[in-house]
Amino acid sequence: MSERAAPFYCPYCGDEDLRPGEQGHGAWECGACNRAFKLSFLGLLTRGLVKERGHDRT
Ligand SMILES: [Zn+2]
Repeated sequence: MSERAAPFYCPYCGDEDLRPGEQGHGAWECGACNRAFKLSFLGLLTRGLVKERGHDRT
């Protein structure tokens, strides 16, 4: 299994002592505060497709 979305810091206590959780895909555990959390991909943002205003298009 490949985990591509790896957090660098715990979103709760900010520690770096993270390890893959046992609850499945995207699950992580923090060794510092003993919290388990899950990362999930929600989708791509559409605002990246909006053209910048003020761009010279003559
Ligand atoms: Zn933590």
